[in-house]
Amino acid sequence: MPVMIRIRGARENNLRGIDLDLRLGELTVLVGPSGSGKSSLAFDTLHAEGQRRYLEALVGRDRAAGSLRRPNVDAVEGLPPTIGLDQRGAGPSARSTVATAADLAPLLRVWFARAGTLHCPECMRAIEPRGHDEIVAELLELGGRLELDGPVIRRGTADPEAFLEEVVGSGFSRVRLDGEVRRIEEIKAHQLGDRVRIVVDRIRLSNDKRARLQDAVRTTARVGRGVVIARVGEQERTYVDRPYCADCDRTLSALEPELLSWFGAGACRLCQGRGVDAEGATCSDCDGERLSEDARAVRYQGIGFVDLLRRRVAALSAFSGAAERTHVTTPILDELDRRLAILGEVGLSHLALDQAAGQLSAGERQRLRLARHAGGALAGVVYVVDEPAASLDDAEVQRVIRLLRRLVEAGNTVVVVEHHPAVIRAADRVIEFGPGAGQRGGEVIFDGSVDALLAADTSTALWTSGRSRLPESKGRSADGLVKVDGHGLPLGCVLVATGPNGSGKSRLLELAVAVAKEDTRISRVVHADQRSVPRSPRSNAATYSGLWDVMRPLLAATREARIRGFTASSFSVNAKGGRCESCKGSGLRRVQLKLLPDVFLRCPVCDGRRFAADVLDVRWKGLSADELLQGCASDLLPILAGHPHLENHLRALVDVGLGYLPLGQPGHTLSGGEAQRLKLARELARAVKRGAEGTLLVLDDPSVGLHPVDTEVLVRLLDRLADSGATVWMASHHRGLVDWADVELPLTRR
Ligand SMILES: [Zn+2]
Ligand SMILES: [Zn+2]
Ligand SMILES: [Zn+2]
Repeated sequence: MPVMIRIRGARENNLRGIDLDLRLGELTVLVGPSGSGKSSLAFDTLHAEGQRRYLEALVGRDRAAGSLRRPNVDAVEGLPPTIGLDQRGAGPSARSTVATAADLAPLLRVWFARAGTLHCPECMRAIEPRGHDEIVAELLELGGRLELDGPVIRRGTADPEAFLEEVVGSGFSRVRLDGEVRRIEEIKAHQLGDRVRIVVDRIRLSNDKRARLQDAVRTTARVGRGVVIARVGEQERTYVDRPYCADCDRTLSALEPELLSWFGAGACRLCQGRGVDAEGATCSDCDGERLSEDARAVRYQGIGFVDLLRRRVAALSAFSGAAERTHVTTPILDELDRRLAILGEVGLSHLALDQAAGQLSAGERQRLRLARHAGGALAGVVYVVDEPAASLDDAEVQRVIRLLRRLVEAGNTVVVVEHHPAVIRAADRVIEFGPGAGQRGGEVIFDGSVDALLAADTSTALWTSGRSRLPESKGRSADGLVKVDGHGLPLGCVLVATGPNGSGKSRLLELAVAVAKEDTRISRVVHADQRSVPRSPRSNAATYSGLWDVMRPLLAATREARIRGFTASSFSVNAKGGRCESCKGSGLRRVQLKLLPDVFLRCPVCDGRRFAADVLDVRWKGLSADELLQGCASDLLPILAGHPHLENHLRALVDVGLGYLPLGQPGHTLSGGEAQRLKLARELARAVKRGAEGTLLVLDDPSVGLHPVDTEVLVRLLDRLADSGATVWMASHHRGLVDWADVELPLTRR
């Protein structure tokens, strides 16, 4: 058993051929500014290689060889299976919900199928199928004179005379008609209705009659097709030995866990469990609840399975905690409680179980997967985790740290990319990449214990130890207030809303945006949150920031382009003409794998270069369209300087800490923080051009995903904007940001 993962000559992206030995069974935190190379090592080298080997083992070397690229590294030795928990990558499938993504759904189905009761969807009567022995035991307890009737439904055109003859021929002599027991020879055929109750046996109950009673119950169930009506005195009980409603003559599906699954037996027949019809409208049969009628009619303590799934994690926890425990349900409930507790630990108590996983923030999705793994029983795995503390309040950060430690204690290796000081301080080992981003990074500049880091002189060391700090507040005062949800938010200065997650910070900001749009003192509202950018593989940093619209005419104006008759739209990824049609200009092809999340592979036609070959021949300042898209703002700025408009866009990207980001980075691979800052960059380029007076910037957690060095750049930029008349309202947990702001608005959990 190796004790080390040995990485030799890692050169992915900007990594400069680094060698590194990672000890197994430790929590290693990789730090450094954005673009310094830590993700290149963690995800693009370590995890990519792990995934490639897994796929190779799964489908064979030959088939795997074409699909997943070998990372640019000389050797990776001693690598256990890896699991990547990043904030990027393909989203979950359309039918995936919190319950399925957290792996709670199977457990909930088993529990509900054991604890719940079938109900007839037509009359909502409880249907509880019993075994014959159970029926016998219950009747014996009653005692007294018993009559057993088997109800028969006479179908369609069957001739009443022939029907009665058949009954007599089967050895029965009485029926119960209009409440009276009558001998068959006494009744006239026309007196028979559609429903006939055949009297199978009459017994005076006592324990020595058990054998006869067993016989009689079996015969009655055969006559009544599963229905046994027992009469003792004037009292009647109807038993069924199968899921059947005798009143409605309706056979139900058996109550098994699969009945509660819209991926299987329980799927609504009309919409096949999607909840919507072919046109995308809510399914008229299940009303969007995805389950069949029978499945929706199952009840436990008056609530249905769909109602159960609508609950939030916290409410479900309370409900299952109070649920009745039997020898059957106790182990299920124990497991359920344990997993719900873990979801609470990672700060997800507020999620409803039926929430679509695709609508969660990237951080929430990641913590959901983290919880799923911490709840499972894997050992000997390398977890590669991207910024698990992003967007969390202090208490939640502590819980995530405990979760990471638990993975380590269970015998796993955890490699985390993180900026949060508390997570860094919890590490067994810290490795810092740097010193800068892009071409100025890619080296290991520190490798050691937390204590050694705190005494070192690297930028992460300075910030983590508190020797570097963000600027203090300038103490600007408000020149007016905007009333939002009972709070007065100041104009002309920097406000930060603080408080734990769930205290309504984001909601307040959303309300503020709506109110501010109506306020005449504010001419422009910019709302940048973590879901700001379209998450499709075709949109990218260059198209979204508006930079590509500036570059396309420059490419089209070159001599080569004019000779070939190209126009600016030939260089568009959103229009036909110049782009590669095989991948529609994304350079990627989505591949669905059975056991893994979807992966995006390089388009084989254009080899990931997005454009047709002759379009790629066109060069501006020596760079082709795909080379421009591969470049990052920091590297391109010196080359492309001298074009004021272009420079403005590139500088804005650098200013918001995205200088390292390749311009063609697809939207679906951006982290939440990157998406937010991309929107900010677009607005900055505009503000620089038109001035910031009357502009309101609303920012949700702007430091998410930023190294302290990058946070400082962002703060200085916002400072400049505020100085020139902009108003900044933000929500944050970041202590330094709070100290820098002019006004703090503390919110509490309601
Ligand atoms: Zn019924
Ligand atoms: Zn339906
Ligand atoms: Zn292509």
